[in-house]
Amino acid sequence: MTGSTFLAPVCKMKNFNNLFIELTAKNCNQRCKHCYIDFPLNKNVKDFISIDLIKNALNQTKNEHIQCIYLTGAEPMTHPDFNSILRLCLKRTNVCIFTNGTFINEKKARFLKRVQDESSNEIIFKLSIDHFDEIKNDEIRNRGAYRIVLNAIKSLAKYQFNPILCITNYYNEPKELLLNEFKNICKKQGFDAQDCNITINQINGKAQDIKNDRIENLDCEFGRCLTAKGIYTCPFLANDHRGRCGSEFSDFSRHNTLETSFCSNCIKNKKPYFGIDFELFT
Ligand code: SF4
Repeated sequence: MTGSTFLAPVCKMKNFNNLFIELTAKNCNQRCKHCYIDFPLNKNVKDFISIDLIKNALNQTKNEHIQCIYLTGAEPMTHPDFNSILRLCLKRTNVCIFTNGTFINEKKARFLKRVQDESSNEIIFKLSIDHFDEIKNDEIRNRGAYRIVLNAIKSLAKYQFNPILCITNYYNEPKELLLNEFKNICKKQGFDAQDCNITINQINGKAQDIKNDRIENLDCEFGRCLTAKGIYTCPFLANDHRGRCGSEFSDFSRHNTLETSFCSNCIKNKKPYFGIDFELFT
C-alpha cells in the first residue's frame, strides 16, 4: 500500500435530532450556479415524495428525540401536497422549510401563520440568498431572485416569523461585510436580523483536503435524510450511493464515511450546514 492511499474518516451519529425530508429531488423553478443538485433540462419534473412514505418514516422514528423536521428539495414548496405535509410534520415537532422564497408572499405568510397558530410547534424558514448586491446575487441564482427573497423576508416579518438567511459565500466575501450588509437589507424590510438569523457557508472543498481536521458539528452527526428512494446521511448526499444508509428507518446505518467534497466543506465550516443550532435563538 502506498503512502498516498486516502483513508476517509468514519462518522458516528450522536443523536437523531434532525429529520430532513426531501420533498422533491429535481423540481425547482431556479437553476443556481452553485447548487449541489444535478438538474435535468426540464424544470417540470414531478418526482414528489408520497405522504405515505413520510407517515411511515414519522412512525418508525417515533422513539427518536427529533427536535426539528426540515423540508428540503430542490424547492420543497412546489410539492402539490405541501400544506398537508407541513401540518402532518408540525403535529410531531418544529418544521424548518428550506426555500428560495418564490412561493412566499404576504397572503401565503398569513396562511402559514394560521397553520403555525393551530399547532404547538414552530415553523422556521431558511431563505436562500447569496449576495447583498442584486446584480451579483441574480448572476448566480436567477433574474429576479433577489427581489423575491426580499419580498419573502418582508412578508414573513409582518407575521412575526423569524427567518434565517442562508448565504453560500460564492464570491468569498469577508464574513463581517456579509453580516452587516444583510442586517441592513433586513432592516429595510422591517425585520431586525441578529447574527443567528444569518448563516454563511463556504464552498469549494475537495475530498482530498479531508485529512486530520477535527470532525465536529456535522449534519450527519445529528440526523438523517429521507427521500423517495430511501435514507441518506444528509441532504447533500441525498440519492447518492456514497450517502446511502438504508431503505427505511426500521433499519438504517448510524455510521458513514466522510469521503466527498461536500464532506470537506462541512468539516471546514465547523457548523451544520442544514441543521439549526436552537441554542442561539434562546
Ligand atoms: S456532506 Fe457533510 S453532512 Fe453529509 S455526510 Fe459529508 S460531512 Fe456529513
